[in-house]
Amino acid sequence: MSNTSPKTSVSLMGVFCATIGHHYTVTRKVTNHINEYKCTHCGREVTDNQSGKLEILTQKIREVNTNVAEFFQKRTNRVTIQ
Ligand SMILES: [Zn+2]
Repeated sequence: MSNTSPKTSVSLMGVFCATIGHHYTVTRKVTNHINEYKCTHCGREVTDNQSGKLEILTQKIREVNTNVAEFFQKRTNRVTIQ
């Protein structure tokens, strides 16, 4: 039995992010104040929360953001029509 596991550059990228910080790009605009981001180096996904801090983007939070985005767009459209 060989005990060699395939090594990828993920751990190296993790060190890179830990050293200079994650390089987030906006993947989705939820509201004017809430965006979803993804790190271009390690793929880590985060989002702004209600407190204005970044938190890990879980599947549950992603669903909440989807609902918030739909609500926000409806409200924005209504304002735009007036
Ligand atoms: Zn990163």
